[in-house]
Amino acid sequence: MDQVSPDYVERFLISYLNRAGAVVDDHDYKLVEVLLPEELSGTFQAEEMMLAFDYETACENPASTYVTTGSYLLDTAVEKALEYGKYTVQYWPGQKLVTPKNLEKKVAQAITYDQCRKPLVEEIWSAENIYYIFNYLCTFRSHDKEEEHFKTVVNAYNAAPCPEFEASWRELIPLEKAQYKPGKAPLQPLERLYEAACEDIKPRVQNRAESFRKASTFLAEREQAKTNSYYEQVIAEIRARLKPTTEPDKAERLQNKLSAAQEEWKRRNEDIILRYEIEVDIRLDHLIACITPVLFINIMLQHKNSYCRHYLIYNPLLGIIETPQCSKCKQKTTILTPSSSRALICPNCQI
Ligand SMILES: [Zn+2]
Repeated sequence: MDQVSPDYVERFLISYLNRAGAVVDDHDYKLVEVLLPEELSGTFQAEEMMLAFDYETACENPASTYVTTGSYLLDTAVEKALEYGKYTVQYWPGQKLVTPKNLEKKVAQAITYDQCRKPLVEEIWSAENIYYIFNYLCTFRSHDKEEEHFKTVVNAYNAAPCPEFEASWRELIPLEKAQYKPGKAPLQPLERLYEAACEDIKPRVQNRAESFRKASTFLAEREQAKTNSYYEQVIAEIRARLKPTTEPDKAERLQNKLSAAQEEWKRRNEDIILRYEIEVDIRLDHLIACITPVLFINIMLQHKNSYCRHYLIYNPLLGIIETPQCSKCKQKTTILTPSSSRALICPNCQI
């Protein structure tokens, strides 16, 4: 395809903006007015935009942005739109993995095998691995409603979060079919990966919910203070009128009024608590499977008189050896020590 029809650009961008929650209104011929949702205003650095899909229209409307192939706005929309779709599969566009030089040096720089002789690279092979980008949509509801996206990348071989991966993947133009032919690495079940992804985003969502809760509590307390001072005054006034009253009818009426005011006060405060309560709703919005070959490195370790093996992953996309996990606590660590049962554990698990 040498040239993209301008019509396609217009149709794609309008579909994308509608899908992203923007309000798009036809303004004139090839001219639309766009009201962006809050989560996109940062990306496009505007809350409202006037988009022109025709050069002359753009010239006649200097406040508009001319959208055509290669424009920043269109490229950004394409990048954002790639994240949509419930489940998307993308392949690394390369054909062959090149084994990096000085692999043993890279291993030594990346990981310290404590109480072991110099680690030996026994074998290396390439295999296809999957990095899943889990995208969640989180809704915080209280006095206000806010929506926020949270995402995390999980390595399907070891179920470890790999936050560095996404930025490198974004620099590629992934394909729909593989161009390479390595075997497949054994992968963890998707349910397990989903659990790992949920674990990884949990503290971030909790943090966000906490700041939302603080804002909500502040507003609730302010409203409660106003309500309290109003009812304190109303009740004080009724009491002041009740005190000198000697007529039983009038006293009863005032007493009823007092009870009603106290009831109403209580109800109003309960209403405030309910209104400012926080509800957080989180769901998996979409999943992207980034399929790419990686290099597996079989390391032979000697600890005292015994030998053990360890597998590392060289990620060609990142150009690094991925930080391994402790076999006990599953946390990532750059220092591993063989335990009495020959499992490789982190310094924290040694204590
Ligand atoms: Zn550990």
